[in-house]
Amino acid sequence: MLECIPTRKVEHTAGKINPAKTCQPIGAMYAALGIHGCLPHSHGSQGCCAYHRMGLTRHFRDQILASSSSFTEGASVFGGAANLKTSIKNVFKIYNPEIMAVHTTCLSETIGDDIPTIIKQSEVPEGKVVIHANTPSYQGSHITGFSNMCKAMVSYLAESDGTAKKERVNILPGFVNPGDMREIKRIVRELGIDLTMFPDTSDVVDSPLTDKYEMYPEGGATVAEIRDSGNSKLTLALGAWSSEAAGALLQEKCSVPCVPLKIPVGLKATDDLIMALKDGFGMKVPRSMTIERGQVVDTLIDTHFHYQGKKVAVAGDPDIVVPLTEFLLTMGMIPAYVMTGTPGSRFETEIRHMLEQSGIKDCVVRAEGDLFELHKWIMENPVDLLIGTTHCKYIARAEDVPLVRVGFPIFDRAVHYLMPIVGYRGCLRLIEMISNALLERRDRDCTDEDYELIL
Ligand code: SF4
Repeated sequence: MLECIPTRKVEHTAGKINPAKTCQPIGAMYAALGIHGCLPHSHGSQGCCAYHRMGLTRHFRDQILASSSSFTEGASVFGGAANLKTSIKNVFKIYNPEIMAVHTTCLSETIGDDIPTIIKQSEVPEGKVVIHANTPSYQGSHITGFSNMCKAMVSYLAESDGTAKKERVNILPGFVNPGDMREIKRIVRELGIDLTMFPDTSDVVDSPLTDKYEMYPEGGATVAEIRDSGNSKLTLALGAWSSEAAGALLQEKCSVPCVPLKIPVGLKATDDLIMALKDGFGMKVPRSMTIERGQVVDTLIDTHFHYQGKKVAVAGDPDIVVPLTEFLLTMGMIPAYVMTGTPGSRFETEIRHMLEQSGIKDCVVRAEGDLFELHKWIMENPVDLLIGTTHCKYIARAEDVPLVRVGFPIFDRAVHYLMPIVGYRGCLRLIEMISNALLERRDRDCTDEDYELIL
C-alpha cells in the first residue's frame, strides 16, 4: 500500500486520505458506557452500530454492548421514528437497562429525525430514562460525539435542588481510557476530596472476569450521581474538546462553577489539576503527591539523555496531543509535526503558543489533518520518534521510525487501556515508553563497538 504514496509533493484539499479520526457515534457510545446500567443505542442501520462496537471492542478487548434502530430502506424513506419507538419498548423489555443513551448516525441526521419528540412519544417504563445526543458523522470526530453525549447527560439529568452546594467536585474526565479515569479518581481521593466522575468507564469496559456474567457491570456513574452533580461545589472539565461544553452547560443550568483544564497528561497539566483542587477546596497537598511528583522530576534527570533533542511527530486526539506536546517540551524533545484529525483552530493556536514559549521553530502544526499528510512530512524530513495510534504503524514501518502507541484506537497491543498515562504515574509510564523505544532503536542500529551494556 505504501508504495502508492507519491514521492513528489502532493497537496490534497478535497478530502481526507487515511483520516486521523473516526465517527462521532463511537465517542457517544463510549461516553454512554460510562453511565452505570446504560445501554447505548445507535439510531441508524445495524452496520453503523456494528462498526462502532467493533472499534471499541478492539481497543478495550472487552465486549461492548449496544442496541440499534436497525434501519432498512423503509426507515430511509419514511424516517426512523417507528424504529426508535419499537427499539425503546423492546430494549427495556428484553435487556432492562437503567437508562438508554440514544445517539444518531449520518442517515438519521440526514433524514432529520426529531429525537426528543420521538422519545416523548415512546413507552419508557416508570423509573427508567432515555437521553439522546445528535452525532452526525459528517461533522467533527469521535471526540465531538463524546462531548455531545456528555452534554446530553447534563441537559437531561443534572439538577440543582437550590440548597448549599456540597463539598464535592465533578470531574469530566474527557475521552481517556478506564485506567486513566481510575488514576484521576485516585489522585482526587488522595487529596481527600469527594468526587463524582461522569462518564466513568472504569469497571465497565475493563470489567474483571468473574464466575457470574453481568450485563451491566459495577462501574459507571449512576443516574442519581449525575443528577446530583448539579449540587456539587465545583466542576473540573478535563479536555477542551471533550469536556468543556458539558462543564459550561452544568455551570449555566445548575450554577456549578466550571474550571476548564487540560487532561492531566504530563507534569504541568497534572500540577494544574492539583492546584485547581487546592484552590477550590483549600486543602493541603499531601506529602504522597509531593513524593510522586518528585519521582517524576528525578526520573527526568536520570533519563533525559535518552530523548533530549530528539525530533518527534505526534498525532492523535486534541485533548491528548495538547498536554502530551507540553510534556514532550518539558522532556526537552523537539516536536517536528503535531497533528490532530479533529477540527478546531484552537488546537493550532495552543500548540503554536507552547512551541513559541519553548523557542521551537519549524514545527508543522495541523488541525483536521490526515495521516497521508503526516507520512509525507516524515518522508520529506524524518523524525526520531512517532507517537500516535495503531493507524500510525504503517508510517512507522515504511519510514523505519520507532512508534510509541498513545491514544485511541490501539488495536495491536494489549493492556494499554488499564495503564494510565495521566497524573505523575502516567508521566513515568510515558518516560518509560519513550526512552525504551529510543534505546531499543539505538541497540538495533549501533555497531558492535558501540553496543553498550549500560545505557
Ligand atoms: S454512516 Fe456515518 S455514522 Fe454510520 S459508520 Fe458511516 S460515518 Fe459512521
